[in-house]
Amino acid sequence: VSPVPADIDVANSVKPLHISAIAEELGLQAEEYDCYGKSKAKVLLSTLDRLQSAKDGYYVVVGGITPTPLGEGKSTTTVGLCQALGAYLGKKVVTCIRQPSQGPTFGIKGGAAGGGYSQVIPMDEFNLHMTGDIHAITAANNLLAAAIDARMFHEATQSDKALLNRLCPADKDKKRTFAKVMFKRLKKLGIDKTNPDELTPEEVKKFVRLDLDPALITWKRVLDVNDRFLRKITVGQGPDEKGMTRETGFDIAVGSEIMAVLALTTSMADMRERLGNMVVGTSRGGDPVTADDLGIGGALTVLMKDAIHPTLMQTLEGTPVLVHAGPFANIAHGNSSVVADQIALKLVGPEGFVVTEAGFGSDIGVEKFFNIKCRYSGLTPQCAVIVATVRALKMHGGGPAVVAGKPLDHIYKNENVELVRQGCCNLVKHIENTKSYGVNVVVAVNAFSTDTEDELQAVREAAIAAGASDAVICTHFAHGGAGAVELGKAVQKACEQHSGEFKFLYPLDISIKEKIEAIAKSYGAAGVEYSPEAEKQIETYTRQGFTNLPICVAKTQYSFSDNAAAKGVPTGFTLPIRDVRASVGAGFIYPLIGTMSTMPGLPTRPCFFDIDMDLETGMVLGLS
Ligand code: ADP
Repeated sequence: VSPVPADIDVANSVKPLHISAIAEELGLQAEEYDCYGKSKAKVLLSTLDRLQSAKDGYYVVVGGITPTPLGEGKSTTTVGLCQALGAYLGKKVVTCIRQPSQGPTFGIKGGAAGGGYSQVIPMDEFNLHMTGDIHAITAANNLLAAAIDARMFHEATQSDKALLNRLCPADKDKKRTFAKVMFKRLKKLGIDKTNPDELTPEEVKKFVRLDLDPALITWKRVLDVNDRFLRKITVGQGPDEKGMTRETGFDIAVGSEIMAVLALTTSMADMRERLGNMVVGTSRGGDPVTADDLGIGGALTVLMKDAIHPTLMQTLEGTPVLVHAGPFANIAHGNSSVVADQIALKLVGPEGFVVTEAGFGSDIGVEKFFNIKCRYSGLTPQCAVIVATVRALKMHGGGPAVVAGKPLDHIYKNENVELVRQGCCNLVKHIENTKSYGVNVVVAVNAFSTDTEDELQAVREAAIAAGASDAVICTHFAHGGAGAVELGKAVQKACEQHSGEFKFLYPLDISIKEKIEAIAKSYGAAGVEYSPEAEKQIETYTRQGFTNLPICVAKTQYSFSDNAAAKGVPTGFTLPIRDVRASVGAGFIYPLIGTMSTMPGLPTRPCFFDIDMDLETGMVLGLS
């Protein structure tokens, strides 16, 4: 249909197949998935046990050029490519994408189901609660936050002995359970005892007092809402909290370390370990305090026990999709989960394809995909697809700023091949950076109705000249899988002909600063500048023994540099590291560059203005 109807109208025009039909077609056995209604199912991790010795399929990661705030169609292209491979080229294929956050869905950007005739359906279920994974993360995150403040309160108001008696009640069973739960803490303290009655007064003190320094607590509360007024809050103002007020704040739920744990974990046991190892702050004595020190690692695992299983959904053309983990590649690593990719690679078999999406430009999501996710999963792709648009390249060539919610400048609606050519420097750098990992790069030029043939060809030529295996103009937004068949063929060829050796950008056994500097260099930075705060934190993490973790840079997605307004390929800039934090359980250190908000706000006219329900049909209206 031309023009292409609104995303929600296209999505609502197709009746999804029952999810059990998708599961069967994919080769799942009845006991390997649990249906959540008619169109979603959790695929259980036990699937991996059965398929342990099966050969993996081809692994393809989709990234993008430096985007405009409107998005350049990475999700749309990921879905369109899979529809082409599955519905037109007869391949077994699984799309692995992230669950959208309700922050952007109701805020500025809208949902993330893809667009036009390349979408995941039912689009409203995908964009809203799905199977509750983000809610589970919110519950677990905030239980831990409550545990921190409560524990500080109890430590401040009770003697060592009273604390021990309460933490280790006289009842024998409880004592045993407690010893089991707290075993790790006793071990960490070097106390070789499991019976609290045998502890010396000095040991009791060490054991019961986490002695968290309120100024050094890094764990915050989270909510899946763009609620800017929660960025900074004071807790403990109730009359019963004895004046123990503390400044803290909320982050967006998908930025929680628990989301990162979910994305990087490889099994239930591994998730238990990572959740327990999450560091929530530092004691007055300078030691890291973990979730397991608070005795909460087990409870967090229980809250996350269903969320660990990826959710099976489908595209508009009935190909399978595994949805797992969350977005925000700028403040988190922003990749879909390791377990979803692992399950998918086994299910498609050696001739099949798994297409997984990495958030934002290749400097953000793809860099983290390679250096963090691939490191933990042990999987490496044969091919990376870089999505480019004429619109974004015109912006990189010097076009006026593209602002969400405001009409596009006429430059973006009329032909200007020269501007596109000038902006292609941005695409070239993304191709070169991605190729340096030893994977083949295919560029998908996501065509918009306002693009002209000459503009599209200019992008194609620049991509091939920069060393892409191929560059394909695609119309999957308007034509579904049929519009990405040539892209599908190019990806297949790039995978089959892949012979490169995979290389990480940096080894793990160098210092935190050396790793940050290696990443900064890949952005084109001339140097790195650390705030006194960042220096102090690097020193602390080095002393605490976390040097060997990979780095997850939190940086604007709108530029290779820290300055969102610097388009194209900025050079000679100094990268300012304002703050350095650690997600020790998930397994990375994350430097914050410039002023990065970990809680977005709502614009004057948020997406929720358009969202409503058709009360006659019960259909959701206005989601995009
Ligand atoms: P990304 O994943 O890169 O952020 P999305 O795939 O979510 O981008 O697309 C962003 C928005 O742009 C969506 O609303 C989508 O419908 C729209 N879009 C994507 N590709 C096209 C296209 N070729 N023509 C028109 N709109 C498009």
